[in-house]
Amino acid sequence: MAFELPPLPYAKDALQHAMSAKTLEFHHDKHHKAYVDTLNKLTEGTPLASQSLEDVIRATAKDESKLAIFNNAAQAWNHDFFWHCMKPKGGGKPIGDLAARIDQGFGGLDKFLQQFAEAAQTQFGSGWAWLVLENGKLKVAKTSNAVNPIAGHGIPLLTCDVWEHAYYLDYQNRRPDFVKSFLDQLVNWDFVAENLSRHRGAAAA
Ligand code: FE
Repeated sequence: MAFELPPLPYAKDALQHAMSAKTLEFHHDKHHKAYVDTLNKLTEGTPLASQSLEDVIRATAKDESKLAIFNNAAQAWNHDFFWHCMKPKGGGKPIGDLAARIDQGFGGLDKFLQQFAEAAQTQFGSGWAWLVLENGKLKVAKTSNAVNPIAGHGIPLLTCDVWEHAYYLDYQNRRPDFVKSFLDQLVNWDFVAENLSRHRGAAAA
């Protein structure tokens, strides 16, 4: 098939201090897989089938007739990105250029964490919270359903999935507790720093 389900970058029980193996099993093997499978069905035999996920997202974002393709392509991309935003023994503090830019952009790590948590908690219904690089500045954003910054203007650096399927098995309705665990114990700051350094040109503005 044109689009493949990438494996998780760690074992399913690797995050169980904050996210159970059962949640990762359902979330990756059922939800994420379903987006990839549906995208393959929807694009089979069309020119989109040979494009990258990013290109499919950009090509369909503003075309109402291709909403189903956009939703499934964006969700396939968002989930792979989200898995990499976490790691076993994650959390802690960013270092180097990323830390400096967070200080500069938000007035300190605690203020950033507060702003990100608020975006994640107040996203009404399903969606995503993001740290993005936009016009050379770090910014917190939130999006509904499948929408991601690739379809807008920002370069995604970090995301948290706030669809109920991301936390309901472990935290039930307590989204704020899930978001706190994500920020304190799961965030992979190395991955966020890599995303920032990959876009050094944009970051230098
Ligand atoms: Fe999800």
